[in-house]
Amino acid sequence: MSELEIIFTKQEINRAVKRLAEEVMVDYEGKNPLLIGVLKGALVFMADLIRLLDMPIDVEFVTLSSYGQGAKETSGKVTMIKGLNTSIGGRDVLLVDDIVDSGITLNYLLSLVRRKNPNSLRACVMFDKPAKRKVSVKIDYTGLTCQDYFVVGYGLDYCEKYRNLPELYHLVD
Ligand code: 5GP
Repeated sequence: MSELEIIFTKQEINRAVKRLAEEVMVDYEGKNPLLIGVLKGALVFMADLIRLLDMPIDVEFVTLSSYGQGAKETSGKVTMIKGLNTSIGGRDVLLVDDIVDSGITLNYLLSLVRRKNPNSLRACVMFDKPAKRKVSVKIDYTGLTCQDYFVVGYGLDYCEKYRNLPELYHLVD
């Protein structure tokens, strides 16, 4: 039986998202950034972040997968399930992801978007797990840093469960 141990409370997450939104609003003042969320994990973070952005924005999603069903580690191979439907050329693009672990997924997406000639490209990540980084990746906005645990809640799943939990938990075996 798996158990859930809380890592970040709803209040800690709210505070971090608010700080990120403030940083984004300062850096993109006078611009109309295109926020690209990575589904499904970034769904909850994206929804919270954009409602705190008091500025014009556009929103787009891609669906990527790097974990096999039931896995707690990346397969190392990123699969694009749903790509981009919008034009990137000349846009100020902000990638929004739930968590960075090996860095493979974010690195893949940054390279893909960079090839489409955006005016600028940055990454905003809610949770960072730096312990098992396999590729170096530049994260411009980080919400909260966590230890090398398999975490669920706040959009993150295990076998599609737990995404709806408002807090972040360590899923203990
Ligand atoms: P990376 O490619 O950096 O290893 O992992 C990126 C993706 O793997 C994340 O967007 C997320 O979907 C998934 N992931 C990484 N660590 C965790 C974790 O601790 N829990 C869950 N549920 N997903 C994770």
